[in-house]
Amino acid sequence: GSLVTAQRTNPALWILDFIPFAFLFLGKYVNTQLTDSVSSLFHKHTADMQRKTEALESQAMHDATHDPLTGLPNRLLLRDRLEQALLGMRRKNRLLALLVLDLDRFKEINDTLGHHSGDRLLKQIAVRLREVVYPTDTLARLGGDEFAILLPSLDNENEIQDAVRKIQRSFSTSFVIDKMSLDVQASIGISLSPKHGHDVDTLLQRADVAMYVAKEKKRHFYIYDPCIDKHSSWRLSLLAQLRQAITSGDMQLHYQPKVAADTGQVHGVEALVRWNHQKFGMISPDEFIHLAEQSGLIIELTRWVMRTAVDQIMSWHAQGQNLGVAVNLSPSTLLDPEFPDFMAGQLASWKLPPGTLTLEITESTLVKDPDLALKVLNNLACRGISISIDDFGTGYSSLAYLKKMSASELKIDKAFVTEMLTSESDGAIVQATIDLAHNLGLKVVAEGVENVETARALAQLRCDSLQGYHFCHPLPADEVNAWLVSHNVHSILERQRLKSVR
Ligand code: C2E
Ligand code: CA
Ligand code: CA
Repeated sequence: GSLVTAQRTNPALWILDFIPFAFLFLGKYVNTQLTDSVSSLFHKHTADMQRKTEALESQAMHDATHDPLTGLPNRLLLRDRLEQALLGMRRKNRLLALLVLDLDRFKEINDTLGHHSGDRLLKQIAVRLREVVYPTDTLARLGGDEFAILLPSLDNENEIQDAVRKIQRSFSTSFVIDKMSLDVQASIGISLSPKHGHDVDTLLQRADVAMYVAKEKKRHFYIYDPCIDKHSSWRLSLLAQLRQAITSGDMQLHYQPKVAADTGQVHGVEALVRWNHQKFGMISPDEFIHLAEQSGLIIELTRWVMRTAVDQIMSWHAQGQNLGVAVNLSPSTLLDPEFPDFMAGQLASWKLPPGTLTLEITESTLVKDPDLALKVLNNLACRGISISIDDFGTGYSSLAYLKKMSASELKIDKAFVTEMLTSESDGAIVQATIDLAHNLGLKVVAEGVENVETARALAQLRCDSLQGYHFCHPLPADEVNAWLVSHNVHSILERQRLKSVR
């Protein structure tokens, strides 16, 4: 399928494809007025063009499906072959194995000897691996130092051991690069079909997870096992890539509008980070924020989020959209001794109108080191930053601290909001929280508003702002732009309708 789209999106090929038909059509139309010789000339031309088109097509096809460095099939072609093999396997009582092979310490080699030597090593490895696979197998380079081998039709699992042994043997003699002899090892992760999955993505992902386990356990190979602590290997693989993801632009911010409960007007957005992973797709912050916290990378991540969110809000301001933006702050960020200086520096260069930037912090921030947290929060509040207490109701913060916190807003956790109409106790908590917050002089935001009934009930309880799927999912900035336009039109029409009814 992807090959066809590659074809379709290449206008040059498309025009070439079309030319023979154009000549045929022209030939038909003017046939009566032209002599035979002219029409045969057209014919010759057409055949020529056809041949050239075909040559171009097959060249383009080859380029799109092969790795230029090693000449091996690339990820695209591997996926295609895997898909074919899976289709062909359906009725037969056979086994398919997907091996993902990652070189150990290749980065070191690349860094110390240079990319040129790294490339030569990869080429040599490709040659050796090609010698150990059968013509019916597919050996592909997935990118970087990662290769894959597809064994499309096996009798039993023992045959996998044979294949692994052969691969291992191909690494047993050193590689010679620039007169230097290098010992290289690889870790192999294996997934099987039908045992571990029936589709391309699942098999690739499980082979990948198995490969990380092999590396973790310092084993040459590992066959995917659903019983292994899935999270530990998945986490390990993410953790290994987190630092790079922050610097290489794989992180993205989505924005979710906050709507005034009475007028329906949008007054701000919450910035929510996503990891757009090249292999796993969009990864939710729930999967990686705690990793970032454990590894200390949260500080870098938060700084990136803060800069990106403020840049976006300034560009919205420039377009006449006077929105505020809320950024989530992890407990460890607030307690980071360098954080106040970072913020002071940024604020001096941003020159944001006071109240534009809100920091959402959870109650747990206060539990760890309340005195320090309060000091930092007060400092920020003095600089025109609003503080919002996130996920309220899930922690144990004392009212005494809430009062001291210089917060201006409280967010009721979505766990209570989504159930407030079906669970009596959740309804009571929502109501009590709104009253409590108002008594303390705080504005209240309800998050997780998923339907119009909940929105109406919250407005009746005098909740100030609403946020949730009912209005808008978190979206990339340009999609929020489009949403803002249609939402504004919608709420103007709604207000006019209400007026005319009155
Ligand atoms: P949160 O701050 O409580 O964010 C609200 C979460 O609820 C978001 O999930 C949002 O997509 C989701 N949500 C929004 N509307 C609805 C709704 O109507 N129904 C339901 N069921 N859910 C809704 P998301 O984006 O996956 O974020 C999860 C958590 O990750 C956030 O929870 C926040 O604690 C954390 N997080 C996100 N971005 C950042 C960040 O930049 N820094 C830090 N430190 N944490 C972040
Ligand atoms: Ca939040
Ligand atoms: Ca929340």
